[in-house]
Amino acid sequence: MFEIGARLKRERGEENVFDYTLGNPDGEPDEAVIAALRRVVAENRPRSHAYMPNAGFTPVREAIARQLTAVTGLNYTADHILMTVGAAGAINVLLKSLLDPGDEVIILVPFFPEYQFYIENHAGSMVLVETDAAFQPEVGRIAAAINSRTKAIILNSPNNPTGAIYSAEFFTELEDMLARVDHPVTVITDEPYKSLAFDGRKLPAVPAIVRNAAVTYSWSKALAIPGERIGYLALSPRLADLGPIRDACTFANRILGFINAPAVWQWVMTEIGQLSDNPRVYQERRDVLWEGLTSAGYEVTKPQGTFYMFPKAPVADDLSFVRALMDEGVLAVPGSGFGRGGYIRLSFTIPLEAIQRSLPAFARAFRAAFRNR
Ligand code: PLP
Repeated sequence: MFEIGARLKRERGEENVFDYTLGNPDGEPDEAVIAALRRVVAENRPRSHAYMPNAGFTPVREAIARQLTAVTGLNYTADHILMTVGAAGAINVLLKSLLDPGDEVIILVPFFPEYQFYIENHAGSMVLVETDAAFQPEVGRIAAAINSRTKAIILNSPNNPTGAIYSAEFFTELEDMLARVDHPVTVITDEPYKSLAFDGRKLPAVPAIVRNAAVTYSWSKALAIPGERIGYLALSPRLADLGPIRDACTFANRILGFINAPAVWQWVMTEIGQLSDNPRVYQERRDVLWEGLTSAGYEVTKPQGTFYMFPKAPVADDLSFVRALMDEGVLAVPGSGFGRGGYIRLSFTIPLEAIQRSLPAFARAFRAAFRNR
């Protein structure tokens, strides 16, 4: 899509191509982020660029632990936190530590496609569980997929690709169900979009509800710095025996090759504290895009957060519809890449003005596909 986008822009002019494909925040990082980076670089603390403990700098982990304690009420310490190369690194470290060959990990459909590779990287096998018509999870379906090989479930709320947010009731019901399973199942709560919740929604603090929850996070999306690869893994303070999993994760953080998160960015994160993104920019874009698409005839579940939308294509073959959109200058990703054919994923990381100009193209593609089906 990247290559095709570049070619179309050359042929038609940059302003006539609407690229909804990449989950790459379009704005530049906030001046407060750049100012903190400047301070850290200027200060040039001794050993700033040296190897460090494999879990990351202790004062940085202490600062993250304090933030998580404030949000969850749980007693996080530096011992529970590993600084990682993004959320991607955090999930890989955890799966490397948890999985034996043939172990199963449950994923909800539609899903972030890299999960499959993360699981298979560590000899695990992915088990798919459908969500309901509004992309909400159902505990009964998850329970039916659990067996003696199930080691983990990956949940992602706010969700890529749908924008769905899962309720506290869902997590409570999930915890009740998992308490009846005769072996521990780790709930990996992958939260890189946690600051992007719309309409004033408050996200439930998952580790306060689910005993065996491990949080994976990165500042990529909230601070528009995905290239910097800075994130963390937070193991649960409610684990009866933290030592083995913490030691395994610390070891894995080294031997997977990427090692701890970039040193300078670790210090930057403690400097800026809980600075979070302003979800209003994306909320406004969500409103304009959602209203434009629904009035053109598309069926779209309104995203509750993130910067993604997952409309139903007017024809079952999502690939052919993506091609039809491309002819109109709109670049989208087929839903089949996320395990749900018949849909498209749009990342509204383009300016509001471009979204507005793209709406007639969406409408033309819809009408043409509808006529021909
Ligand atoms: N999890 C989800 C759901 C994502 O959408 C992404 C990136 O798009 C990641 C994890 C990986 O995040 P990062 O690139 O910050 O490691």
